[in-house]
Amino acid sequence: MHIENVAVVGAGIAGLTTALAFARRGIACDLFEQAPDLVEVGAGLQVSPNASRLLAKLGLLPQFEAVWTEPHQIALVSGTTLRPIAHVPAGETARQRWGAPYGVLHRATLQRVLREAVDANPLLTLHLQTPVTQSPHAALSRLTGRSYPLVVAADGVWSTLRAAIEGSPRPSFSGHVCWRFTIPDALVPGWLPPDQVTAFLGPSTHLVAYPLREIGGFNMVAIASGANPGRTWDAQATESHRQRLFGEFRRWDRRIVDLLRQVERPTFWPLFEVGSGRWHNGRDTVLVGDAAHAVTPFAAQGASMAIEDAFALVRCVSEAADLPQALSSFEASRQERVAKVRSRGAFNRFAYHARGPIRLGRDLVLSLRPPESLAADLDWLYGYKAD
Ligand SMILES: Cc1cc2nc3c(=O)[nH]c(=O)nc-3n(C[C@H](O)[C@H](O)[C@H](O)COP(=O)(O)OP(=O)(O)OC[C@H]3O[C@@H](n4cnc5c(N)ncnc54)[C@H](O)[C@@H]3O)c2cc1C
Repeated sequence: MHIENVAVVGAGIAGLTTALAFARRGIACDLFEQAPDLVEVGAGLQVSPNASRLLAKLGLLPQFEAVWTEPHQIALVSGTTLRPIAHVPAGETARQRWGAPYGVLHRATLQRVLREAVDANPLLTLHLQTPVTQSPHAALSRLTGRSYPLVVAADGVWSTLRAAIEGSPRPSFSGHVCWRFTIPDALVPGWLPPDQVTAFLGPSTHLVAYPLREIGGFNMVAIASGANPGRTWDAQATESHRQRLFGEFRRWDRRIVDLLRQVERPTFWPLFEVGSGRWHNGRDTVLVGDAAHAVTPFAAQGASMAIEDAFALVRCVSEAADLPQALSSFEASRQERVAKVRSRGAFNRFAYHARGPIRLGRDLVLSLRPPESLAADLDWLYGYKAD
């Protein structure tokens, strides 16, 4: 089927990519963002080959290659001894095995490159400082004088447009919190390899570290279980949050504990997820990205799933006879995919945070697996073609 135009609400990673993917098929989009500008908030993101292959289809890979880092491996390392446990090759292996690169970059860079592509496309118009709430079709018609056959709600984990969809999922606290901070290159310790993503694993905790060229340093995310502090993205950690961080990681290797103690301004990020429910109203409104299915970062797939959604939605709209059919095939295929990613995240959480004998078993089993075989386990994830 062909539609002339689409309204997209939210100019995060999901919304910007959706607009660009529709424009690629000649479909115009108005994009509505509540913020007065797309400010540089957030920290690092991982873009795996299943998503980077789609960014390449948008013609944007050279812009990303100019700024991101392609880690040569993703390594699992003991947080209590700094002993390597296992690794999955990335770098050139990712390009060859999965046909696209594995990149790490700042969320603001990903958003900026997508936004520049939107600004440069005559089929796309970004309306900043334009929050859209319930009854989106009526609100959007009032704003632009146009009517939209399809409204795509890409308004994130705290989506207000979900209320327009009966039976839509709800956000809930995952039981985990994280602290984010950066380390400038000059202060990066020798034990932190400069060219890899390292997941340090400890009892009920883990710490992910990778280089970010844009900031000239390392992105660090420490994750532990915790109580629900309410919604926030980028709160400055209070003294009590800092003390919690030191408490959770106190049994870790002394070098990591010392590093954490030097961190002056961590931010504190409670992890919310969006559970199961309907993603469309059967007619003209659909959820994508975190609004539909925010996941915890244990499989590092939040942004990549949003990018996949964009292409999958455009494919379903192009292939179906009408919009109701397009929306239900989008929901069916994406819910199946997201469920698999969620299970992988739950498995990683169990394995990463294991304690006692389970942890010893984990280390033994993983250390016996060749990197090639660990990479093969991820073919279904990184080799996936959403378009
Ligand atoms: C501020 C911020 C920082 C983040 N930092 C990180 C990070 O460091 N690492 C990481 O892995 N993930 C981060 N994320 C999450 C990550 O961006 C998402 O998991 C993933 O990219 C999917 O994003 P999304 O586009 O679905 O939602 P989001 O990235 O949440 O984008 C939603 C967009 O919709 C806009 N919006 C919300 N309500 C309305 C409304 N009513 N009308 C109009 N616009 C609206 C928001 O302002 C936002 O721009 C961050 C998200 C945000 C919003």
